[in-house]
Amino acid sequence: MKFDLDALFIERSCADSALAARIVRAIPASVPVYEVNDAREAAMPAHDARDPFGAGKRRMIVARRKTPFLMACPAGSSKFACCGYLVLTLASNCPMDCSYCFLQEYLADNPAFQVYANFADSFEELDRLVESAAGRSFRVGTGELADSLAFDSITGISCELIEFFAARENLTLELKTKTDEIENLIGLDPRGRVLVSWTLSPDAVYRSSEHRTASPKARIAAARAVLDAGYRVAFHFDPLIAYPGAERDYLQLIDELLDSVPPEKISFISMGGLRMTPNLRGIARRRFANDPMLCGEDVLASDGRFRTFTPLRLKLYRTLAERFRKAGADVPSYLCMEPASIHERVFGESPLRPARIGERLATSGEPVPSR
Ligand code: SF4
Repeated sequence: MKFDLDALFIERSCADSALAARIVRAIPASVPVYEVNDAREAAMPAHDARDPFGAGKRRMIVARRKTPFLMACPAGSSKFACCGYLVLTLASNCPMDCSYCFLQEYLADNPAFQVYANFADSFEELDRLVESAAGRSFRVGTGELADSLAFDSITGISCELIEFFAARENLTLELKTKTDEIENLIGLDPRGRVLVSWTLSPDAVYRSSEHRTASPKARIAAARAVLDAGYRVAFHFDPLIAYPGAERDYLQLIDELLDSVPPEKISFISMGGLRMTPNLRGIARRRFANDPMLCGEDVLASDGRFRTFTPLRLKLYRTLAERFRKAGADVPSYLCMEPASIHERVFGESPLRPARIGERLATSGEPVPSR
């Protein structure tokens, strides 16, 4: 097991589930296991009162999801140029601890890692989606409210997911991660229907802000390994942080990436500047008081979030976009949570409509079917 667990809680209604049995078998015998009537009992404030959110990352709950698994990306808004991403919530929370992570605010009242024993019910929702929109392609990701692969070595959920998506023509699964937990993926046949994406940051950001994640070098090596195993790959430069020396460091990072993964093999890249609501900024600065990456100059933008000054943000976006352009392949690119006007200033053209860009990202880098 790559991440520590202080305790495992299992909702009584899930006690006989295959997922609970698999997790109990995989965790060390020293981790106590408790049955509870309701996940909320386990999600009560953890005993480490100094940092209940941090302590909650080491408590896992096997629960039953009572609301739909599939939804539009919660980051979507009419203010932003949307990428048409659909989110499949099979777990929430994350054993890693990035200082800028929005989960610190979004899951503030729920300090534990929840994984849903009835996750296979999501397959019916996905089949209904495809039936209702014949001929359209969708990109569906599990990495919004959780890291897609953290804890996969004990839950094994990726195996069933990949098997499901590999058999569906109009669905692409995106597994988004900052780990190198790819062991379950190797040896399966994704049939071009699964892309694995990594959020990449320079070493300075990794060391300062991305606690318990795999190093950038390890993430790139893992990307190369899954590419060789038949998966598509994509990369997120998000959040882009404008610290002194950032441009140089991001360019060096891209050079290291392109040394391992040729540009024509990259399905897409995304970029998004550091952004925080005032509440999240307060939480993050309290929990990570010594992180210089959280203390750059920012401004309260019209969407109610603190953001890096537009000229600084634009400069970083353009520098990275230009580097990929020079790499000689047309790597599809989009900006996350930015208005169309910023997109136009970076790429020199208007963004596609969400449904179009969603389809393009779902199908870019797909292998050409053999005749
Ligand atoms: S890896 Fe992602 S989900 Fe996990 S703490 Fe970092 S930003 Fe949050």
